[in-house]
Amino acid sequence: MLTPSQQDYLEAVLTLSEKRRVVRVTDVAQALKVRLPTVTRAVKQLRKRGYLRQERRGPVRITERGRAVASALRHLHGDLVHFLVEVLGVPRRVARRDAGRMEHSLSSASAQRLHEFLIYLTGQKRTFRQRLNGFKRASARRARLFERLTASRAFGWRA
Ligand SMILES: [Zn+2]
Repeated sequence: MLTPSQQDYLEAVLTLSEKRRVVRVTDVAQALKVRLPTVTRAVKQLRKRGYLRQERRGPVRITERGRAVASALRHLHGDLVHFLVEVLGVPRRVARRDAGRMEHSLSSASAQRLHEFLIYLTGQKRTFRQRLNGFKRASARRARLFERLTASRAFGWRA
């Protein structure tokens, strides 16, 4: 099992390696806004477990094993954002933040169902998606109402 933070490292290395030829620990530190020693430690752990490769002080490379995990996480992240924004009507900024947390805790069974549900939804008739828009508009109105109730601020999870 990889920790959420280890999963984030793999995702960051995958994304960086698609943007540049050589990925260094400094690039990873910058991308994740963490200190260099923290990255060095994380890379060492991931290297020992076969998710990353790194010659001494050299560039960081993602292995096939690491790539498989990182792309699955990225896919799930995309599915979660899609679900939260397009189905539930959650604001994108909030959805991105939530997805970043949810992707680390969802089981593969739920991740698969979510993926299949989104495909199923795409295949639905327009009338169904329009009804969904009705729900989103109504729930956005209720959310605004909710925010006006000062008591609701006590619930961090509603923010
Ligand atoms: Zn999917």
